Amino acid sequence: MTPILSATDLRKTFGSTPALDGAGMSVAAGEVVAVMGPSGSGKSTLLHCLAGIVAPDSGSVVYAGRELSAMTDKERSALRRGAFGFVFQFGQLVPELSCLENVALPMRLGGTKRRVAEARAREWLDRLEVGEVGAKRPGEVSGGQGQRVAVARALVTAPKVVFADEPTGALDSLNGEQVMRLLVETARETGAAIVLVTHEARVAAYSDREVIVRDGRTRSPELVP
Ligand code: ADP
Ligand code: ADP
Repeated sequence: MTPILSATDLRKTFGSTPALDGAGMSVAAGEVVAVMGPSGSGKSTLLHCLAGIVAPDSGSVVYAGRELSAMTDKERSALRRGAFGFVFQFGQLVPELSCLENVALPMRLGGTKRRVAEARAREWLDRLEVGEVGAKRPGEVSGGQGQRVAVARALVTAPKVVFADEPTGALDSLNGEQVMRLLVETARETGAAIVLVTHEARVAAYSDREVIVRDGRTRSPELVP
């Protein structure tokens, strides 16, 4: 299958610390890929390079046939607001806005009228089984509810690729399972691919395929002794 997003031979050094040392991976449309490995192995840096947030020192990232480094900053930020969606360990919801307004925000930034954006945001909160928190601020909801709001916000613009960096890292196992089930279910329905960074096997179990990162290099699990 042709990958929608692929990275080849990525290298990135922070000061004298090599974070990536020849890493590469690809994701097909609609595929859920788990990026696994110990803390400090380079998983987040790999995700940031794939998403165009961090520029690698060398190597290439290609999204839908286009090299990210050949795009302008404007084009890359358009990607991050449109074709790409993000879910982080801590929801990173805007604390001053209600949960409903948080989910509506990406659509509002894209020029959608408030009424339309909020109606769609309401549907997405229901879909993530947190319809009841719409009027509350992120500080007034539980960690699990907040992550479901964050998933709704990531998927509401129908992204092609969702980047999820330890999306369940701050949750207990029951809430973690729920967030993963809803994230993967809704991505399957909308056709979004997921790049899922995790160090937990039970979270990676939701993926179609695993990529292992060790010391800034990637390999398939069958090659790891
Ligand atoms: P992981 O996600 O697997 O924990 P990271 O990609 O976060 O790994 O980090 C890989 C290595 O790069 C680590 O040694 C980390 O300390 C270093 N690193 C990552 N980001 C930065 C940064 N912005 N500045 C300095 N060092 C960094
Ligand atoms: P550095 O840490 O070396 O300053 P940055 O990650 O801040 O590098 O990015 C430097 C520039 O590269 C920024 O203008 C940024 O928009 C751009 N950039 C970000 N991601 C990519 C990418 N994947 N490929 C090429 N350039 C990128």
